[in-house]
Amino acid sequence: HPPLIEVHGLAKRFAVERGLIERLAGRPRRQAAALDGVSLRLEAGETLAIVGESGCGKSTLARCLVRLHSADEGSIAYLGHDVGLMRGEELRDYRRHVQMIFQDPYSSLNPRMTVGQTLSEAIVVNGLRPRAEAPARVAELLDLVNLPPDAATRYPREFSGGQRQRIGIARALALEPSCIIADEILSALDVSVQAQIINLLISLQKRLGLSMIFVSHDLRVVRFLSHRVAVMYLGRVVEEGETEAVFSAPAHPYTRALLAAAPEVGLSRGRHDSAMTGELPSPMNLPPGCVFHPRCPLATGLCRTEVPWLLGTETGRSVACHLAPGRAPR
Ligand code: SF4
Ligand code: MG
Repeated sequence: HPPLIEVHGLAKRFAVERGLIERLAGRPRRQAAALDGVSLRLEAGETLAIVGESGCGKSTLARCLVRLHSADEGSIAYLGHDVGLMRGEELRDYRRHVQMIFQDPYSSLNPRMTVGQTLSEAIVVNGLRPRAEAPARVAELLDLVNLPPDAATRYPREFSGGQRQRIGIARALALEPSCIIADEILSALDVSVQAQIINLLISLQKRLGLSMIFVSHDLRVVRFLSHRVAVMYLGRVVEEGETEAVFSAPAHPYTRALLAAAPEVGLSRGRHDSAMTGELPSPMNLPPGCVFHPRCPLATGLCRTEVPWLLGTETGRSVACHLAPGRAPR
């Protein structure tokens, strides 16, 4: 049967503002590629982490998935149905089923509504319970995220950052989603609070059978809570596979460099080819061939001209590198 979410060849470009001189000189608008042909799949009940340096397209991908952005090319399928073709009820259903949690839940909570009102609205407006049953459901939701029952009568400003993140999670759960998309939701929290939220997410996933897309630059957290990981670089997925397998034997030179730069994950072995040189190229001007070639210690002539497509290997790993094991020599 089809995966819960399947993304195929997703591309998204943003227009870049021209400076005064460029406008006076009549230069055309330039475009920056945020996503450049991303493909991935998420199975029901699984956590897929998306990792990569900032600016690699992780957030754009998350926003395309919840339709805060529309992609320029490619498709997203939900249980085999093309999300781009959904209208009316089907689209509302998709939007309810795929819920995003943001880094700063405060900005997405109405400061004039109590937590109970916010949760009730979500429940009633979406027709999930009659209004009379909403208070009982609110109590259930607060309990699910380990907030005290009296949280329902209080306002968002009365809570700490970690508690607000729990409220954000409760609001997402109010819609009875099948998938949660979490974009850097831990980065504004203290380490001890991060650990509580991570444990909460893991227990919720087990209890509710949720799927999760967890966007993060924190490789330690990713290793701890994800089943699979997709590594992004300049708008492309360069490696995807089971988290433990990818972390213990990274196959793409960029993944190796990323892990080597994060010794706290405890996996780097100082491999000779784990160095990464130079700066991240501009997304307005992607390098030809392999986008990683200007920084790759193993780049060959082929890498400068031919795109290494993301191909699966026998071990269930996908790698976009001409030198990946199992590739036909050319
Ligand atoms: Fe490096 Fe070439 Fe592989 Fe790209 S395709 S990661 S440049 S070896
Ligand atoms: Mg981001």
